[in-house]
Amino acid sequence: PAFFTAIFIIIRLLSMIKASSKPLDVHHKGMKALGIAAKLSVDPSAIEAASRDFGHIVEAIPKAVLHPSTPQDIVALIKLSYHYSSVPFGIAAKGHGHSVRGQAMANNGVVIDMKSMKKHPNGTRIRVSADGLYADVGGEQLWIDVLNKTLEHGLAPVSWTDYLYLTVGGTLSNAGISGQTFRYGPQISNVLEMDVITGKADLMTCSPKKNSELFHAVLGGLGQFGIVTRARIPLEPAPKRVKWIRVLYNDFSLFTRDQELLISRNGRKDKNALDYLEGSLLMDQGTPNNWRSSFFPHSDHSRIISLIIKHRIIYCLEVVKHYDYQTENTIDKQMKQILQGLSYMSGFMFQKDVGYEEFLNRVRSGELKLDSQGLWEVPHPWLNLFIPKSQISDFNNGVFRGIVLERNITTGPVLVYPMNRQKWDDRMSAVIPDEEIFYTVGFLHSGGFNDWEAFENQNKEIMRFCKKSGIMVKQYLPHYSTKDEWVHHFGSKWKVFQRRKHQFDPRMLLSPGQGIFNNY
Ligand code: FAD
Repeated sequence: PAFFTAIFIIIRLLSMIKASSKPLDVHHKGMKALGIAAKLSVDPSAIEAASRDFGHIVEAIPKAVLHPSTPQDIVALIKLSYHYSSVPFGIAAKGHGHSVRGQAMANNGVVIDMKSMKKHPNGTRIRVSADGLYADVGGEQLWIDVLNKTLEHGLAPVSWTDYLYLTVGGTLSNAGISGQTFRYGPQISNVLEMDVITGKADLMTCSPKKNSELFHAVLGGLGQFGIVTRARIPLEPAPKRVKWIRVLYNDFSLFTRDQELLISRNGRKDKNALDYLEGSLLMDQGTPNNWRSSFFPHSDHSRIISLIIKHRIIYCLEVVKHYDYQTENTIDKQMKQILQGLSYMSGFMFQKDVGYEEFLNRVRSGELKLDSQGLWEVPHPWLNLFIPKSQISDFNNGVFRGIVLERNITTGPVLVYPMNRQKWDDRMSAVIPDEEIFYTVGFLHSGGFNDWEAFENQNKEIMRFCKKSGIMVKQYLPHYSTKDEWVHHFGSKWKVFQRRKHQFDPRMLLSPGQGIFNNY
């Protein structure tokens, strides 16, 4: 009888919520019935933290923040909005909040503070199967923690982002790219299975074979289809050390020709393939806030600066090859062979030899340094693009050597490096250009609180230039303000994206901050 009484009370409470026309009453007894009342916070500091992100540009104030301890807490919250509210409320999973345009925010809705799941009652939510060569990882986990845990077993994932203080769920919602992508594919190409809670509050396990539609939808799906609570990531034996080389160019066509040559060797077993390749612009930025500049020996700074002053832009190719105890005697020879015949400027090769973990976590020291100078928690009007290979030279002429030099305001790193389309899976939601090789270009601006609009205007001018010149650019970590722009962004994938939304999140609850379907 007690059981039936409890059921009766829950049904009564939930029907009261159903009848309510308010979007969300966090004090409602229905929350208690679902067992999450104690985990919902309306504390001003929690609300404030959930209203901002790394971009420091957008602010959206949620009604409450959920601090889940288990996936079931998330199921209960989604149930409340999906099944029991006549006016549903938006729900955004917030990983590490390193989006720059409010993508993990939920105006008037509920933000799920995913990091609360790290304190799971059963201990860690990173479980390594050394025999199975995979790790089961909570969606809320930071990649740095995944690295540290897997290294304990002598193993590691193969595909990374430049910066590791991002969550698994956050990067898998985008793609997760870095210098490994040309060879190993983006992080979304390196997932075996996931547990996902859909917008209908169904907790489903999905993989390429099981519930494959959901699996492909979620990867690169901008948080639109479900909340990732577990991802199974394949592992390989971790290398011990890396040879890390940067060479400089003043000629863009030689720079890209060499990049393309190097990424053409991309077989997983090819001994002459690099493990990482990126590129960046060196310009006279006059400010210290570039977290990638500490590579060059101090004694070489003045001649590099002279080069930059002479050419205004220098292109820097950056490559890495892993090695371990078996290959430590041959790595130098091998690297020499790989770089033979490249056309970089003579006398401008710089190298480092560091541990694998130090290399992967290379951005952290720059972050801490900038943070100590008050230059990390500042506005970040970033623009990340994918550009087809056939148009990258037009982009260099019109944008790098045109808009960027004319405006002369760019601060922070500017990245440019190619990847291979064949390493991506077109069934996934991520959008990339329609050419076998395409480049990523990242303007990772840091602005002041009063002057970030100047960078925003530059970003807009770049987008206008691409449109006018017919450059078939796609945004990575996309941000648009109109539906038409989103439809254009997805192109031939829009219909599938929309169908999947209706299938997995028909009340359009999830990740409203992306501004694709909803904006509660
Ligand atoms: P959040 O900002 O918290 O969330 C991003 C989106 O994912 C939101 O829509 C959110 O609702 C959704 N989401 C979050 N968690 C989940 C989940 N568990 N399930 C479903 N949806 C979820 N990206 C690269 O690809 N390569 C890089 O090298 C790279 N470097 C970066 C360096 C810095 C310093 C920064 C700030 C960002 C960088 N990024 C890079 C971008 C980064 O990958 C994205 O911003 C990513 O979304 C950040 O992860 P997060 O955990 O902070 O996600």
